[in-house]
Amino acid sequence: MGGKYKTPMLDELEKGPWPSFVTEIKKAAKRTEMADDELGQVEKSYVTKRGYWKHGGIVGVLGYGGGVIGRYSSLPNEFPGIAHFHTVRLNQPSGFFYTAESLRMIMDIWDKYGSGLTNMHGSTGDLVLLGTTTENLEVLFAEYSSRGWDLGGSGSAMRTPSCCVGQARCEWACIDTMNICNEVTQYYQDQLHRPSFPYKFKIKVAGCACDCVAAIARADLSIIGTWKDNIRIDQAEVKKYADAGMNIQAEIVDMCPTSCMSYDGKTLKVNDAQCSRCMHCIAKMTKALKQGKVKGASILVGSKAPIVVGSLLSWVVVPFMELEAPFDNLKDLADKMIEWWDDNAKPRERIGELIEVKGMRPFLEAIEMPPVPQQVKAPRKDPFFFWSESDFN
Ligand code: SF4
Repeated sequence: MGGKYKTPMLDELEKGPWPSFVTEIKKAAKRTEMADDELGQVEKSYVTKRGYWKHGGIVGVLGYGGGVIGRYSSLPNEFPGIAHFHTVRLNQPSGFFYTAESLRMIMDIWDKYGSGLTNMHGSTGDLVLLGTTTENLEVLFAEYSSRGWDLGGSGSAMRTPSCCVGQARCEWACIDTMNICNEVTQYYQDQLHRPSFPYKFKIKVAGCACDCVAAIARADLSIIGTWKDNIRIDQAEVKKYADAGMNIQAEIVDMCPTSCMSYDGKTLKVNDAQCSRCMHCIAKMTKALKQGKVKGASILVGSKAPIVVGSLLSWVVVPFMELEAPFDNLKDLADKMIEWWDDNAKPRERIGELIEVKGMRPFLEAIEMPPVPQQVKAPRKDPFFFWSESDFN
């Protein structure tokens, strides 16, 4: 099997030093007709500059409204292997931790019922299985679920929450990202599997402002670890960095986005009241600087990639929240946000867009949060200040 098609255009994408998706599809094409026909169709698309995928019909598994995205070739006679080529989203483990054994098991099942092609991972976070047929869906799902795997979210639903590796591997994790991710995933199971929202809702959890899951750019609800007290400074280690040739003024002090640092050639100081906990200095001087000890998370809302309106970054709604299992305070807040959005949004309107339309005031009232100075749209530029009737009397 495999090698049915000449692919001069795709072959170009194998040149150069980088891994190539073409090489991987060619490997799979040796085993499955699906992957081989996929190769043929993609080559054709590159030649004609047209896409040949079409959506149509609702496909899924019994009891679930999401998790499978129906996909069909519009050229089924030419490429019969991909007449059906549905995408299946498997809910990834928190922090993307797999054992080799579990990966083998996932792939053995996938080789049996699908194209063998995967996307590890989709931008929401799921383990994406690319290409299976309608008749294989139930049996595929039955095999995965009998081994403890579940489908992720798709459509107008809670999307599969995701998180950074957090305390499992990273000394900067201010919160237990993996536990939070797992808890909210379990808590919103119904909303994940049965789309009932105006549009998608994504939750991402990062252990600190380095934000290795890009929560601030991609999640409707971003939970980002931070601390409340002062950055801990070891001046002896600061000296070692200077002795080793680091230009502390240029690389650290001048790069501080809030200009809250100073260095006189001997002592490094931080004006912690002005610090925005951005992690720049701590990430650069790992031995000299440490986060404070009072840890929790900032809760931000509203980011999305561009579809209806342009892209949005999240902005702070709760500057500091303590987060201890089972994270009821976080779930309560998320419930209030979702309820307001669900009641007010047009179809395909994300929560950030709705806040842009309706304003911050009704949103904060709905989630029962008082306006605070940290709720700025862009740092130091745009405080939300609410006039009420009584201010004019
Ligand atoms: Fe570590 Fe922060 Fe990255 Fe999480 S986001 S892995 S805590 S650096």
